[in-house]
Amino acid sequence: MWESQKQEVLKAAQQMSQKGFVVGTSGNVSLHFRDSEGRDLVAITPSGRDYDTMKPNDIVMVDLEGQRVEGELTPSIETMLHTGIYKVRKKVNAIIHTHPIYGSIIAVAGLEIPAILDDQVTQIGGEIRVAPYALSGSPEMTGNVIAALGPRNAVLLANHGAISVGRNMREAFTMCQLLEKTARIYVFALGLGKINLVPADAAEVEKAYFKAVYGESQTD
Ligand SMILES: [Zn+2]
Repeated sequence: MWESQKQEVLKAAQQMSQKGFVVGTSGNVSLHFRDSEGRDLVAITPSGRDYDTMKPNDIVMVDLEGQRVEGELTPSIETMLHTGIYKVRKKVNAIIHTHPIYGSIIAVAGLEIPAILDDQVTQIGGEIRVAPYALSGSPEMTGNVIAALGPRNAVLLANHGAISVGRNMREAFTMCQLLEKTARIYVFALGLGKINLVPADAAEVEKAYFKAVYGESQTD
């Protein structure tokens, strides 16, 4: 069952791996949807499996409490992080967790990325925060990430990596690329020693656009 959703998760996971957003079996990808009976389900990558040999049936189906509904393999250790985000971000239906190089540099330094680029503000929603460190799979990590993500579409995880979210998988993947592009530019701009932010009045207009497109009732 749920073949198309499994295929979608598998394809995104393989792209994430091929584009170098993770090394080896790290990272994870999920898709949230409602089945024909109105049940909330999440298709998520399994724990500790190579992406290049992964098959659609290796993708595990869980409910919003993280309980396995279908699949032989163990769902990702970060499953509760994914379901936790789906519970509070009602418009989000896809989540990609990566360990990207430039995003991780910023996460190691513990620096928030301010609003430096127009597309960062209109699509990610403004500054990119760093969730305080917590162990993978811990309830503390879920709380830290949800708080730092707020209403935006990307967040960094201290000493770990990044999370991007979207209304669908394509959007979540774009956010993943946009986050890494922004982090890369920020690292080089920091090296140049001078950073000009997006002018405040323009950032305000762009944030209003972001809210109109991606916004939900949840506030920052
Ligand atoms: Zn990770």
